Amino acid sequence: MNFASDGGINENDYFRVMQDDRSMGIYVHVPFCRGKCFYCGFYSVASLAGKEEYLDAVGREIRARAGYLPGREVETLYFGGGTPSVLTPGELEGIVNLLEREYAFRPSAERTIEVNPEDINRESVAAWRSLGFNRLSVGVQSFSDDRLCAIHRRHSAREAIDGIRLAAAGGFDNIGIDLIVGLPGQSGEEVRRDIETLIGLPACHVSLYLLSIEPGTVFEARTRRGELLLPGDEEQADRFTEASETLKRAGFEHYEISNFARPGYHSRHNTAYWQGQPYIGLGPGAHSHDGLSRQWNLAHLKRYAAAVREGGAYFEREVLSPVDRYNEYVMTSLRTMQGAEIRSLQGEHAPYFEQTRAVWERFLAAGLLVRVGDRVRATEAAWLVSDAIFADLFYVSPE
Ligand code: SF4
Repeated sequence: MNFASDGGINENDYFRVMQDDRSMGIYVHVPFCRGKCFYCGFYSVASLAGKEEYLDAVGREIRARAGYLPGREVETLYFGGGTPSVLTPGELEGIVNLLEREYAFRPSAERTIEVNPEDINRESVAAWRSLGFNRLSVGVQSFSDDRLCAIHRRHSAREAIDGIRLAAAGGFDNIGIDLIVGLPGQSGEEVRRDIETLIGLPACHVSLYLLSIEPGTVFEARTRRGELLLPGDEEQADRFTEASETLKRAGFEHYEISNFARPGYHSRHNTAYWQGQPYIGLGPGAHSHDGLSRQWNLAHLKRYAAAVREGGAYFEREVLSPVDRYNEYVMTSLRTMQGAEIRSLQGEHAPYFEQTRAVWERFLAAGLLVRVGDRVRATEAAWLVSDAIFADLFYVSPE
């Protein structure tokens, strides 16, 4: 198999490449939820108490870390969680104003806020728009009331549908929806109905996740007790593939393992992550990456807030070794339809690429990787078994 470049990139018109050494992303973690969903392994607290302490600490962290990525401009801002939509417009405004004071935002910056359907109403939509958010990510997960109840969501399917329409009518033309495939009790027919419902809505981005059982969740405890009946791996994969095909027929592009978008509506924030662009993460549990190191804040609201307030250590930091950078490049680049650049593999990652070259060639021969111009990318079939593929392509230092 020949890895030498055979010409130009077969670039997708809609894929915005951001090899831009002046841009950065900002992620703000809002850790509050009204209850804990049974599948959720993200750091969040099932209570709104502690908001004041949080707002004070995030404000201090924003000011303290204003020089984290010097000379860069903000290309994307993402409020995630948790549930950012539990913050009042005034609370959100305080954070946004502070960020705008401390960082240089590009006028065209993508500004996303994750919201839950029960928080969408005429007033909240107008407030989010006036704060400069131009993209909504709506946590829907399922359009079946039975399923929503069984996973402990706190909204109905009708609320989600009406909320998305209301947000579109209120001026959001960039709306993403999160859905889960493989929930307990979910039939193939139900997945089909969920996808058809979604296609009928004014949404241009879909994050479609296969249920995974995360440590510390209610679902993990139930799995251990043998109480959770889940579809088998093959059945899950078939449902995901069918959903993916339906979305593609409806005009969505499968541009990353779990993400689909209408042309021009890829998530710029997540794309920047996958392309290794630097970002700062603010709030408890948030991660940051400056290109040479990554760091992560304490995933505990009280401990994080106290450490920020008292000038203590509120994060851990790890300098990335060349092996880490190779492994990270493999994992992030092969998640996307654009894949890995052969020039990078044979350039800065050459020592580890050469050591694993036989594995790359084996996957190319098996049709799990394909060569496209001067890139190599994973096929959709490979994405269904991506963990195993990435693990084989990683370089493991001999001890
Ligand atoms: S899925 Fe979202 S709303 Fe549910 S517990 Fe996790 S972060 Fe909170």
